[in-house]
Amino acid sequence: MNNKNIPVTQPFLPELSEFIPYLEKIWDNRWLTNNGPFHQQLEAELCRYLGVEHISIFNNATIALITALQAMRINGEVITTPYSFVATSHSIMWNGLEPVFVDIDPETFNLDPAKIEAAITPRTTAIMPVHCYSNPCDVAAIQKIADSYGLKVIYDAAHAFGVNYKGESLLKWGDLSILSFHATKVFNTFEGGAIISPDAKTKQRIDCLKNFGIADELTVTAPGINGKMSEINAAFGLVQLKHIDQAMQQRQAVDTRYRTALADVQGITIYQHHPEANSNYSYFPILVEADYPLSRDELYEKLKVNNILSRRYFYPLISNMPMYRGLPSAQIGQLPEANQLADKVLCLPIFHELSADEQMQIIETIKNC
Ligand SMILES: *Cc1c(COP(=O)(O)O)cnc(C)c1O
Repeated sequence: MNNKNIPVTQPFLPELSEFIPYLEKIWDNRWLTNNGPFHQQLEAELCRYLGVEHISIFNNATIALITALQAMRINGEVITTPYSFVATSHSIMWNGLEPVFVDIDPETFNLDPAKIEAAITPRTTAIMPVHCYSNPCDVAAIQKIADSYGLKVIYDAAHAFGVNYKGESLLKWGDLSILSFHATKVFNTFEGGAIISPDAKTKQRIDCLKNFGIADELTVTAPGINGKMSEINAAFGLVQLKHIDQAMQQRQAVDTRYRTALADVQGITIYQHHPEANSNYSYFPILVEADYPLSRDELYEKLKVNNILSRRYFYPLISNMPMYRGLPSAQIGQLPEANQLADKVLCLPIFHELSADEQMQIIETIKNC
């Protein structure tokens, strides 16, 4: 038996030799950051790859989320999901706004549009939904509510790189969408992120905000921030982009093997991909139900003892964290579906290099209980 841990995810790293010529170029032209040639090239290539027209790349998705709320001049209350990574709610708090949690749909794990209207008050100005595990939100229903109440929609699309919905990029929905290129995401630039804008004017405002609000040498037009991506990160993104389709295909094979092998395991529910969208196979969440022989936490521990690292992602729920749990909308009774899901979910290892043998080991550990 080998003692090497199977990680929950592993970043896709191309051959180092492929990256070296890019570094040499940076050393040659001595342009290290501030909209350099690789930065410009990555924005252009991402637009083409993702099928969007306007993208602003950032140093990470959290700063991009914070900037997106600024760019839309959001104030008051923002309706959001408690079932996400903390950065979603934190970006709202960093703007001095109040997150208002609304429960999720237990089938999609995304904000339940049927519950949004009841949470709208005169102070509500925006909705920040998350395309959880790359599964699209009910974007049409959310837009309809936003339109009738005059609200902005800012999607935390950190999981949704390369997702098409009904034949078009999912990132075109809403007023803005934010991607993450963190090392643990499907497409990574070590650290990084992006905002997708609907038009050139919005992109220009965002580009200004991410560069301290500097409009030209003598003019600062807004209290901006430093959200710029360096040339090294942008260059790595260009290399990464050449391999992303292959990496996603390898992830798909892992996803398919799990689905087949775990389909009939009593007490294990597998979440279903949206029928009208392509997944990017970024996560493989299972739900450990009451009729499984072990609790979720016991299964997590059992996998760990067998050198398999899974993650209780998303647990604990954002709304149960100390800085949020005092909010009226954070009460457990208001969010039954999100609370139940957070107690049952376990994300299994999924990455391009996960071998069939290693995966068999994971599957057998789950089956032999
Ligand atoms: C990863 C993630 C973020 C934060 O991204 P960073 O690039 O690490 O700042 C935000 N929201 C969600 C849903 C995420 O998964």
